Amino acid sequence: MSFSCPHYNPATDQCSRVRDLCVCGRPGCVLARNSTFAIPVEVRLREADAQPTGSFPREDTDRDSPDA
Ligand code: SF4
Repeated sequence: MSFSCPHYNPATDQCSRVRDLCVCGRPGCVLARNSTFAIPVEVRLREADAQPTGSFPREDTDRDSPDA
């Protein structure tokens, strides 16, 4: 199944609905009450929290990088 969420900002990997990182199924997510995930949301939230802030590439900054 594929899913496209109108709240997802691919440039920042952020969710405009929960105003935080997109982790499908997290509290406040449109999928939280009606979806089942192979990896529980609690596990994915812990992994997301362990990521350093800003570790996701931003399209707007990467494009202008002299290394790109
Ligand atoms: S957390 Fe849920 S509502 Fe937010 S962008 Fe991701 S899939 Fe959409």
